Amino acid sequence: MTVLLHRLFAILAVALLLAPPVALSFGALPDIRYKLKPADGNRIDPLLGNGRIVRGGEAPGKIAFTFDDGPDHRTTPVLLDQLDRWGVKGTFFVNGHRFQERTAGAEENRAVLRDIHRRGHFIGTHTFSHADITALDDAGWKQEVTQVARQVEEITGRLPRLFRPPFGRVDDGTAERLRTEGYTVVMWNLDPLDWKSTTAGELLSRAQQVVEENPGGGIFLFHDTNRVTTRALPLILEWLAERNARRAARGEPGLELSGIDAFIHR
Ligand SMILES: [Zn+2]
Repeated sequence: MTVLLHRLFAILAVALLLAPPVALSFGALPDIRYKLKPADGNRIDPLLGNGRIVRGGEAPGKIAFTFDDGPDHRTTPVLLDQLDRWGVKGTFFVNGHRFQERTAGAEENRAVLRDIHRRGHFIGTHTFSHADITALDDAGWKQEVTQVARQVEEITGRLPRLFRPPFGRVDDGTAERLRTEGYTVVMWNLDPLDWKSTTAGELLSRAQQVVEENPGGGIFLFHDTNRVTTRALPLILEWLAERNARRAARGEPGLELSGIDAFIHR
């Protein structure tokens, strides 16, 4: 009898050691319905330019991650690793000055841009110099919008079809011009003000707040140039997975972590 008990304890101990740590720390594995579905940004990209403006309410129950103002070789790769670990395709709205020859780190930033593309994340543009597009003349438009897209195409082999206006500034005239040039304008509805956050904990709680205020999900705005964002993103992803597991256990819908393509109806 004792021998049998000892044997049972030994089996139990081995089983516990072999159990995935995630099951022990969360108590339950995240529901399979919220398993992240990677979208292949490279494949879908050319279909994304439909001339519309998306604002975040287009895909109820989904949540997408967008990053502006990069690429920055010091911070963007950290975010790429985190997104890849979770199987999430992010969208990066890049500024042309980051990979212009005269800028410090331009060479490294070009390599990061290529890496974003190679890893299947989405790339959009955000002007050359972070300009307000509603204040541009024709020459300014060519430099700030047209040439940056061409530059991205030279570096990645793919002409970007997504655009995010700096400061969220777009008017009827610029919206029409972007539409005729085949861009989809991507705005956002979840802004945790990452640039204002001084700690990862502060950014996490702001992100939690905007999600609870927008239970249908939407489009998150972050900046991949921000060091606090690199520290907070894993906490936010983990919290969303835990939130989904908790809600699934109660039979309530969660938020599916999605690529931006889910918001662009073709
Ligand atoms: Zn910006």
